[in-house]
Amino acid sequence: MSSKFFSIKSKDFGANHNPSRLVPKLLNVCCTHGNEQVGCFIYDNYSTGKNHNFEWRSIIANPKAMSLNKRYIEQDLNRVFPGKADGNYEERLAYQISQILPNHDLVLDWHQSITNMSDTIFVKKLTPNLKEVCQYFDIAHIVELDKGQGGYQGTLISQVENGIALEYGNLHNHQDACRRVQRSLSGLLNKRRFRKFQNVYRMLDQSISLEFSKILKFKDFQGLSRDAMEILGIDDLNIYPVFVGGYKEEGIYCKLVQKIGIV
Ligand SMILES: [Zn+2]
Repeated sequence: MSSKFFSIKSKDFGANHNPSRLVPKLLNVCCTHGNEQVGCFIYDNYSTGKNHNFEWRSIIANPKAMSLNKRYIEQDLNRVFPGKADGNYEERLAYQISQILPNHDLVLDWHQSITNMSDTIFVKKLTPNLKEVCQYFDIAHIVELDKGQGGYQGTLISQVENGIALEYGNLHNHQDACRRVQRSLSGLLNKRRFRKFQNVYRMLDQSISLEFSKILKFKDFQGLSRDAMEILGIDDLNIYPVFVGGYKEEGIYCKLVQKIGIV
């Protein structure tokens, strides 16, 4: 039976360096989207290992899509969890991955964005347990997906209690993304904190349609100008754009988040 990560009191983590004791089991899920090849870097460099804080292992979630450098083969893997034993290729993968998730105490699902968005952490809900984990990532923004309506359904992290999806900006600067991933992973595995604080947001249902991209210029996590707020009829200063340019094919300029605090 796996160690129960968060039932171990946090003071026990640092105090006891006996390598034979139970440490939380971490699973890195790489290449959930096959073309987001920062996953290959993680798989190659952190395939299995153990230190006094964690025991870790990495898997390639979608091997066929990864080898073809495609997002998916038949269906977006990150929309079909928990999958089906006799479904299409991605449904079968989701089903197989779902079987191993319960053997781990913490699951990290690694992604890369085609846009220049800031590196971002996504969680279902920022529970005290996940807050403890997130603090070790050198990432300024944490977004909660739980809108109370299950908007994250079908995603890998919807299947676990302690799940985090990481989105690294700028798919095309692969080397730099790998360097940033390495920094955060070493922060987590060694429990080293890089940042004094992180911004926490909640994902909203609203999105901004693509036609507004002709008159408004947004950047991820940068406050809306007074003009933009007036044009869009938004009067809350805590609303920020996110995924700018990431959903063009769906006719969406950006999605919106609401800042709910700082941790
Ligand atoms: Zn992805």
